Amino acid sequence: YIIRSAEFVKSGTNASHYPEPLKSEYLFLGRSNVGKSSLINAIVNRKNLARTSSEPGKTITMNFFNINDEIYLVDAPGYGYARRSQTQIAQFQAMLLDYIQTRESLKRIFMLVDMKVGATKDDIEVYQSIRNAGYVVTILLTKQDKLNQSERSKNIQMIKAQLNDAEVEMIPTSSESKRGIEKIHTLFEEDLHE
Ligand code: GDP
Repeated sequence: YIIRSAEFVKSGTNASHYPEPLKSEYLFLGRSNVGKSSLINAIVNRKNLARTSSEPGKTITMNFFNINDEIYLVDAPGYGYARRSQTQIAQFQAMLLDYIQTRESLKRIFMLVDMKVGATKDDIEVYQSIRNAGYVVTILLTKQDKLNQSERSKNIQMIKAQLNDAEVEMIPTSSESKRGIEKIHTLFEEDLHE
């Protein structure tokens, strides 16, 4: 998949704010600092399209990016439950599940997990709530460059166990080495020709 254009379209917190569901859409989810902005930027081959906006207290929004006038990438707010209030956590969960359950153009849910840190309590909670709602999640393991070969296979097994899902699809990625980017581009391409 070749990136010809990438631009920010809209931010919003509910369906009335979102763009019309007329393009294949990919959701990117992950806790703050997992490497989500860096990975989105690597996927769209831009330095600064997605930005970290994870400070507690900031409005949490879904951010839509138009790629090639063909697909939307949706950057969900980084979750970091420990640093947010109960109200914010509830708002985030409601916004996320509402989006996932009603967004007809949603093609795939990508959830990012730090390959070195493993799945955190928050990661496991978000993963289970999406799976319990009946949806499939593709895990993008981030910062793969930080690990050596044996740590990589060890941590893949560890994360499968943490998520309690032996069948989960996982793609190791690195924004530094660009590992995994081509695989993600191939998924976009395959969906367009489906
Ligand atoms: P976000 O909060 O999830 O958007 O995370 P950022 O993309 O801002 O990244 C958080 C930190 O992880 C930054 O210091 C990045 O430089 C670092 N980081 C992100 N991706 C990678 C990666 O692929 N490899 C390494 N080694 N560091 C990364």
